Amino acid sequence: MRKDMVKDYKTRTQMIHGGTRRSQYNEVSEAIFLTQGFVYDSAEQAEQRFLKSQPDEFIYARYGNPTVAMFEDRIAALEGAQDAFATASGMAAVNGALMSCLKAGDHVVAARALFGSCLYILQDILGRFGVDVTFVDGVDLDAWQAAIRPETKVCFFETISNPTLEVIDIRAVSELAHKVGALVIVDNVFATPVYSRAFELGADVVVYSATKHIDGQGRTLGGVILGSQEFIRGTVEPYMKHTGGSMSPFTAWVMLKSLETIELRVRAQVASAEALAEALYDHPKLESVMYPGHASHPQNALVQSDLGKGGTVVSFVVKGGKDAAFTLLNGLNVAVISNNLGDAKSIATHPATTTHQRLPQQEKDLLGIADGLIRFSVGLEDPQDIIDDVLGALENIA
Ligand SMILES: *Cc1c(COP(=O)(O)O)cnc(C)c1O
Repeated sequence: MRKDMVKDYKTRTQMIHGGTRRSQYNEVSEAIFLTQGFVYDSAEQAEQRFLKSQPDEFIYARYGNPTVAMFEDRIAALEGAQDAFATASGMAAVNGALMSCLKAGDHVVAARALFGSCLYILQDILGRFGVDVTFVDGVDLDAWQAAIRPETKVCFFETISNPTLEVIDIRAVSELAHKVGALVIVDNVFATPVYSRAFELGADVVVYSATKHIDGQGRTLGGVILGSQEFIRGTVEPYMKHTGGSMSPFTAWVMLKSLETIELRVRAQVASAEALAEALYDHPKLESVMYPGHASHPQNALVQSDLGKGGTVVSFVVKGGKDAAFTLLNGLNVAVISNNLGDAKSIATHPATTTHQRLPQQEKDLLGIADGLIRFSVGLEDPQDIIDDVLGALENIA
């Protein structure tokens, strides 16, 4: 079932059938077209295809591939986007979305609380090419308003920030950005594609690290840029296909099969995250618990109205700093210590010494990355086992 045929069905149905292209053998499970090139029937056909290829006419896998196209159509259906371009990793998506539309002299406003590599692109790379970047506290709308100026081309932020789980108001930032004609690009990993309403709320471009919930089983890196057909085909595709960050057909196949179960997986993980957050609130060994889906979260009203749910990650600060945090991590039996998220396996991370180790102390303080902070990505194990695992490990803290 192609994109245009599937759109009347509900999301779960679209995730099973959307984008499917069958070969002449009529296989049930989608084929991996593990080919980098395509044969033309004639010299004239080759000439025509390079002149202007139609949808589903392929030239070279860096430009497009049938398995990759199936993934792009299926994820576009999930997000409610006109089009999508699949990338080799989440960072290829973030880089591609930004670099494809910015030029020297442009101005970008970005939320300060960002995934480390996103921060690197905005702080270190863009400046080298004459793009001026202003960082703001993403939840402070006055700060966005003050920072946006007539030459602002892009506003960039993570809908739910990593690792302290602040929630940014897509609708409000989009209104401010659109007044000066700036594009709103959101990195939506923590909100998850299942609960995203980013386009409806005003975002122009949505990027995902597909490595997270889309694969959701820890196998392969990938990413995707979603937006209008004009932006994806007119701006993103030329940049991506010539700079080499396209997704491989094998990766696309893994991601495509994962989309069949993403709704079930993410809904179950969110339900377990809610239960874990509830079990941890007011725990005597904890200084604080951050979960956007909990009533005590500062942006919970926004989560209720815009996302519906608070995602699959719970962050908390243990009393006793780094030593206590390490005691907790080393006492976990079900959850693993690692730095991915959105996985079927529950994963605990100590941001201060791993993902955010490089940040100067002053920056860590600004972002709330305390020595006792744990980022806990809730997996698909039985929720009671997850809760017992964390509560049990907390008992090890003196
Ligand atoms: C993981 C992640 C990325 C980068 O994705 P990769 O697939 O690792 O390249 C970007 N943004 C956010 C919010 C992430 O969690």
